[in-house]
Amino acid sequence: MTPLTPETQTRILEFVDSLRDEILACSRHLHANPELSGQEFKSAAHLADIARRHGFDVEMGVGGLATAFAAHHPATATPGPRFAYLAEYDALPVVGHGCGHNLIGTAGTYAAIALAHAAASLPGEVLLFGTPEEETIGGKIVMLDAGLFDEVDAAMMVHPGNDTEIAYTTSACLCPVIEFHGKSAHVASGAWKGINALDAMVQLFVSLDITRKQMPPTVRIPGIITHGGAMANMVPDYTRAEFSLRAKDKEEAEWAMERLLDCARAAALATGARMEWHPTGNPYHDMRPDPRLAAFFERHWLALGGSQPLDYVKPHGSIDIANLSHRFPCLHAAFSITDATHFGVHTHEFAAAANSPRAEDELIRVIKTMALTGAEVLNNGLDAAGDHSTHA
Ligand SMILES: [Zn+2]
Repeated sequence: MTPLTPETQTRILEFVDSLRDEILACSRHLHANPELSGQEFKSAAHLADIARRHGFDVEMGVGGLATAFAAHHPATATPGPRFAYLAEYDALPVVGHGCGHNLIGTAGTYAAIALAHAAASLPGEVLLFGTPEEETIGGKIVMLDAGLFDEVDAAMMVHPGNDTEIAYTTSACLCPVIEFHGKSAHVASGAWKGINALDAMVQLFVSLDITRKQMPPTVRIPGIITHGGAMANMVPDYTRAEFSLRAKDKEEAEWAMERLLDCARAAALATGARMEWHPTGNPYHDMRPDPRLAAFFERHWLALGGSQPLDYVKPHGSIDIANLSHRFPCLHAAFSITDATHFGVHTHEFAAAANSPRAEDELIRVIKTMALTGAEVLNNGLDAAGDHSTHA
């Protein structure tokens, strides 16, 4: 493979350093103005304005999502790989940027800008996507289904966390709602005329607990009953439960989903109630990090003095870039902004950490690493990562 020239590397590193104040101002601005999923109008506009100022063409409201955007840098449009950076910027109720998406939005945007700055000496094209609503519907999945990533050859994003984890993996997730329809009757004077939808629901949870014993440890099927009946003196004619099914991968999730539905069907049969179910939200696949992107990232991250990545795989929740990783090479790298062990993301403490001097130093380092990772892909394509593919 052709190594990046020292000139290209220096051009990226010096450019990011020259923009330090502007970059930190962007992260602080997003942090000070947290907007919930689907309402990130000011945050999306802020990042889009910055991208425009640095030469990108930006289209707002893509994929039917009002706060999504797609951007490309026309001056970089030469034959070769099309490399995309993903920017998230939604916040949470109560804890604001308790997931640190102010850092993610800033990192994705400025990594694209820094790579575009060096792209005159590289083939390929630099793309930037504003991907909203990560905390709720999984905006990237909507954008994927809308065909927005059809021309992308590889994509990456970063996420702040307690640990540095470069080849970050996540569980697949399905969120079904299960309902039982019975028949109401007075519990004392005519219980035998009713069909008890709560009995069906209780039976479902009991059967599920039994079934779990023969499930792999990677499967989790927590559930809550959101409707258990109307009055204690009436046979419940309707019950409803929500589940958050997690599994190692898409295939295991689909298998576990069938087991859950078998339990529900059996409960309906046992009680005479009628079962209905439907999925909610988008199914999240398992994250499949591209080992070549991970190798490029790790090499530059460590060379820039970045913190050592974990040498074991931690369990994680689910993320929407995972669905993209089933279609083209992707990387979602976590970078440490705190050594704390008593709190994690989605807390007030993490919101404070996401706006700390340490996070800001790491932000500059991670933007440089992302830009250099993209430069490697433009320079060599992914098939040339070869010797450096040490991650699996
Ligand atoms: Zn997050």
